[in-house]
Parts: sequence; structure tokens; C-alpha cells
Amino acid sequence: MIWNEKCECMSREELTALQTERLKKLVKTSYENVGYYRKKMDDAGVTPDDIQSLEDLTKLPFTLKDDLRDNYPFKAFAAPMTDIVRLHASSGTTGKPTVVGYTRNDIETWSEVMARTLTAGGVTKDSVMQNAYGYGLFTGGLGAHYGGEKIGAAVIPISGGNTEKQIMLLKDFGSHAISCTPSYALYLAEVMKEMGIDPRKDLQLKFGIFGAEPWTHEMREQIEEKLGIRATDIYGLSEIIGPGVAFECEYQDGLHINEDHFLPEIINPDTGEVLPEGSKGELVITTITKEGIPLVRYRTRDVTSLRYDACQCGRTLVRMEKVMGRSDDMLIIRGVNVFPSQVESVLVKFEEIEPHYLLVVDRINNLDTLEIWVEMSDELFSDEVKAVESVRARIGEQIHSLLGLHAKIKLVEPKTIERSMGKAKRVVDNRKL
Ligand SMILES: [Zn+2]
Repeated sequence: MIWNEKCECMSREELTALQTERLKKLVKTSYENVGYYRKKMDDAGVTPDDIQSLEDLTKLPFTLKDDLRDNYPFKAFAAPMTDIVRLHASSGTTGKPTVVGYTRNDIETWSEVMARTLTAGGVTKDSVMQNAYGYGLFTGGLGAHYGGEKIGAAVIPISGGNTEKQIMLLKDFGSHAISCTPSYALYLAEVMKEMGIDPRKDLQLKFGIFGAEPWTHEMREQIEEKLGIRATDIYGLSEIIGPGVAFECEYQDGLHINEDHFLPEIINPDTGEVLPEGSKGELVITTITKEGIPLVRYRTRDVTSLRYDACQCGRTLVRMEKVMGRSDDMLIIRGVNVFPSQVESVLVKFEEIEPHYLLVVDRINNLDTLEIWVEMSDELFSDEVKAVESVRARIGEQIHSLLGLHAKIKLVEPKTIERSMGKAKRVVDNRKL
């Protein structure tokens, strides 16, 4: 199903015209109302009048997360506080969070792009949608909530955690759809198993809409198999709007970007050069309709690629490849780039282990070491030592062939790796201590 055919299936010509008009307006507003951005443009010797087409975008300076931090809390806003109706903030792991403000129109845009996202994920006005994203300063909960309500679904604002109650409501309320992080979906499946609940028989759950952390195709297969649902990947970040930037359709072959609101580019993260279609690089987004905190060429740090070919679903919106990881999450181990999601793609192929893992990186005698902790299944745990050794050796070989790195594989007892109610913690990097 498509929520808004007019916008999601527009011809490229129409879309380009719309984007150009919106971009010009955005650059003008940002220049006039946002101090740091005016200074950046002045320093680069570019004025709003220099922007007449989408090609002119490359003349504009990038916006970095640090720009938002430096302008904490409200100096990056383009709208006066009297027009702001909502404030959210990203979880700042170090120092101050980044704060985002929404005008009433921004909330409407957000609801619209989330309605598209959830519709593509299987939610309809007849659905009961259990929203297990966290509510609060984090954008996940309220973003999915407003999108679900716009569609006309019955939204359950249960928020994250409280797992046994989640499962009780899934059963008693007959929820058709659930929205949460993919790691929490796996945890739900595990607890259901312990409670003796068979999702295919005992629940009416058909669709899962999962985001807020990178996850692999292999992890999707596991979630779909364990919960008996279709699992849809969604993408967003609080600085841009929250969830709703991009979403998968039923073909699960890349995520459609809501391009009438978010203009994407792919750049070489080292040089800033714009890369051609199909190249892998850092995703940069310009929020062409945002009023509260417009962002021009915002560097997301997420690594992906774009493709403009037609999708079988009928949407013309460009597709981005599933995000493998944030360049901030990328580990450099002995000079090799490693994303936790790459390790995950190996681990989930082994039936003898559970999809719960932790990468422990250290530096011993000036040499980086990688230890991968992963949980054994109950079966393997009670199996003989030889079987455990064989699994350990095979995982080690596959990691080596994928990354070109020797990792120490540590198989731990079932249920010893901490479970997450939100974003999973996958890495402990002791080199930074
Ligand atoms: Zn599609």
C-alpha cells in the first residue's frame, strides 16, 4: 500500500522542480535566520541568489553535528520560540545533547512521512499498532505515534521495556504491528519462547517496523522467522526529523527516501566530493521543508549508496542501501575498517549460537585485539566440548575471510550478554580508556 501516491510516485521532472523551489526558499531562510549558517556562507563567498538549481547545492557549506552542539541549545533554530511547539534532543553520550525544535508544520511533515513509512511497513487504519519505541526526548516514540494516528491505526503508546507486559498486550489486544528497535524484537522473541508463547499461533502480529540502529539482512531473516512477521527497516535521525527519513517497501530492496522533504547526496567523507549514483559514501541530507531547525547539507555520518532506478512498488522516490553503520561506529582495528553489522552478518548464519554479541577491542603491547563474545544456544551449551570447539573455529574462519582479521571468539553461556530495551550496545572499546 502507498500512503500518498501523488508525492511518492511523482515523475523525476516534477520532483526536481519541487525540490529546486523548496531548496531556494530553505537557503534563503537559513541565511536570513540562522547566524552560524550565514557566517559559513559568507566565509564560502556564496549568497542565496547563487542557488538556482539542484546542481548548485555543491556550492553550499556542510553542516556538522558540532555546529549544532556549538549552537546549543536554540541558536541553530530558524523559527522564533513562539512558533516552536515541540523540543526533542538526541542522546548525547558525551557532553551536551543536540536539540531540535519543531513548528506546527514540522510536526505535520513528520506525521506525513511517518504515515508513508508505516503504511509501507503494513500498517493500515484497521491495525492495532503497538509502539514500543521509547517516548521522551528521543524522537522514535512520538514520531511513530503521530504517523500511526495519521493513518488511523489504533496506537498503543506502551514505549520501550516492560517486556512481559508488552507480550501480554500483543496477545490480548491482538496487535497487528509492532514498532521498536530490531534488537528489542529479537529479545521479545526470546522472552516469548520462555513464556511458552508461539507468535504464529497465539498472536495476530503480522508486521514489524524496526529502526534506530543498523541491522543486517540476516538479522531480518531471523526476526521474520522467529516472530512470523514481515520486518521492515526504517531510517531517520533526530537532527533531520526523527524516524521517517526513509523506509523500505514490501520489496525490501533499499529504503525509499522521502525526497520531497529530504534532499540526499553521497559524498566522499574524507574530501567532501559528491560521488556518482551507486557509489558508497557518507549520506548528506538537506531538509528542504523544515522550519524549526533547517539543515543545509547535514553530514549524517551514515554510510550508504543511492539508486534512482524504478522500484517494483511504483514509488519513484530514490532508494538508499540499508545502512551498514554510522562512520562514528566504525572501528579501525589494525588499520582494517570494521562495522559491528559485518560481524553480525557472519554470526547470524550459525544456528548453534544466539544473535546476541559484543565486540571487545583492546590494545595489548601496542597491537589492537578483537574479541567477539557470542552466546551459545542452549543446545550447544549442553553439547560436548568438541562441538563447541568446532563452532568456535568455523566462526573464526568466517570472520577472518570477511575482515582479514584474526579475532578471538569467546562463546559464552546463554543469556549472559546484556539485553537492550532500546539501542543495543555492541562494542566495548578499551583502547579509549
Ligand atoms: Zn519500492
